[in-house]
Amino acid sequence: MGTAQFFAADINSARTPEAHLAESSFIFHPDNEKSFRLTIQHGLELICDRLRNTDAPFSGISPKELAAKFESVNLEMPHDSLHQTLEELHTLYLKDAVYFHHPRYLAHLNCPIVYPAILAELILSSINSSLDTWDQSAGGTLIEQSLIDWTCDKVGYEKKLGDGVFTSGGTQSNLMALLLARDNYFNQQGYSIRESGLPEGGSKFCILTSEVSHFSIQKSAALLGLGYDSVLPIKCDANYRMDIEALRSCLKNCKAGGKIPLAIVATAGTTDFGSIDPISQIVEVCREQKIWLHVDAAYGCGLLVSRQHRAKLEGIELADSVTVDYHKSFFQPVSCGAFLVRDNQHLSLITHHAEYLNPLCQSQEGTPNLVNKSLQTTRRFDALKLWLTLRMMGPQLLGDYFDRLLSLASRVHQKLLLDSEIEVLNTPELSALVFRFLPNVGGEKANAINFCELNQNVRKSLSQAGAAVIAGTKVNELSYLKFTLLNPQTKTQEVLEVVELIKSHGRKILTDSDQTKSRSTVQVSN
Ligand SMILES: *Cc1c(COP(=O)(O)O)cnc(C)c1O
Repeated sequence: MGTAQFFAADINSARTPEAHLAESSFIFHPDNEKSFRLTIQHGLELICDRLRNTDAPFSGISPKELAAKFESVNLEMPHDSLHQTLEELHTLYLKDAVYFHHPRYLAHLNCPIVYPAILAELILSSINSSLDTWDQSAGGTLIEQSLIDWTCDKVGYEKKLGDGVFTSGGTQSNLMALLLARDNYFNQQGYSIRESGLPEGGSKFCILTSEVSHFSIQKSAALLGLGYDSVLPIKCDANYRMDIEALRSCLKNCKAGGKIPLAIVATAGTTDFGSIDPISQIVEVCREQKIWLHVDAAYGCGLLVSRQHRAKLEGIELADSVTVDYHKSFFQPVSCGAFLVRDNQHLSLITHHAEYLNPLCQSQEGTPNLVNKSLQTTRRFDALKLWLTLRMMGPQLLGDYFDRLLSLASRVHQKLLLDSEIEVLNTPELSALVFRFLPNVGGEKANAINFCELNQNVRKSLSQAGAAVIAGTKVNELSYLKFTLLNPQTKTQEVLEVVELIKSHGRKILTDSDQTKSRSTVQVSN
């Protein structure tokens, strides 16, 4: 095969010390266009080969087995050819990777991605703009700002008042939200945490969020010097949405106990259930009591472009800040997220001017330096992915994809309700289903079964067999299984096949353990 060998030779010659010039052929530079093209072409072939030949979401390999393959790798000794390099990569990574595009990958909030975004990844990495300052990005800064303005518009924020910045994802966005909520509160008291640190009596401050909100709220509270204990979990209703009466009574208790709420965090799409807190009602509470409202829409942000279900986010336009994760619900590759605020003034709480990078005078001259609103300094041009996606596909198609997920989830839910061996816990608001396998066995036999262990083992068994990758979670101390449906191409039938796999693996586990038990009984009696 011409090109592979040719390129092998090309790189081989680069290894000889005399071939000084050829050695720099790895650098992105017009002199090296030929090797650049070949490298990318070979990479593309490899990816397409995997795409064609991936017949399971996962091979089922164990960490130990895979780690053993790394033993022969010597990072001091590069390969002689691209061919060898890619072959090794195939063995160590691609062959046993977890493939989110596969119809039997139904586990976490990982979406299959759209290819305009992959093209963007190639372009943004090649040019390697850094989005902290105008002088490292130029048009990149304007592209990001346009997308922020567009997203703010979808949220319903007022033009020119709403603002935001791209982030690495929901965790960073939630941290920014709580940072601004905290510092804004203290600013209003005439106290600058940024300059003076946390004041005495920090333990009286609290953050209220539902009991099923994302753990990054707790983590952020800890990072902000408030501690896990400052996060007060609010009870949910039967469909895992924040109970507004419980919120009100918690606030009452806070006041009575001398506690000061810094923020209420509503979740639009909880990680486990996809449930959406009653945003409009929470807005009312926040307005009455002058508390910062953050809406974590890391998962639910897909609704922003939905034609059928946008109303589920009603009230979000009144939130002080919003988290969106394009890498969860806009079919974008990791990382791609954003943090938005209703009033751009609040972002100045994190602005820091460094003379060498973004001096104050540049802001005064009107130079847009996005680092002024970001926790990161050097920052990827992730916005380009969403840009090419919108320019090639348009927002409507993305929204239609998201709508398809919601109807898929609803169809699967209907089927699960009819299945006497499946207990479903939630009615899906988005595309997540929590359920467990409860086999139909006689009364006495059923008493002997540990259903939590059984469901955990089903999940493991499916993964080890490479049959399907599904998630697990615990609700009220009991183990459940979870589907997160994020592939708009997946058919109801394909999901139901996984349900059948769950049942057949479950039955096999029960039979096997019966046999083990009876064998050990026989041994004892011998
Ligand atoms: C995934 C998730 C996050 C965290 O987002 P990352 O992009 O993983 O950092 C936050 N909140 C919710 C509700 C999530 O589902």
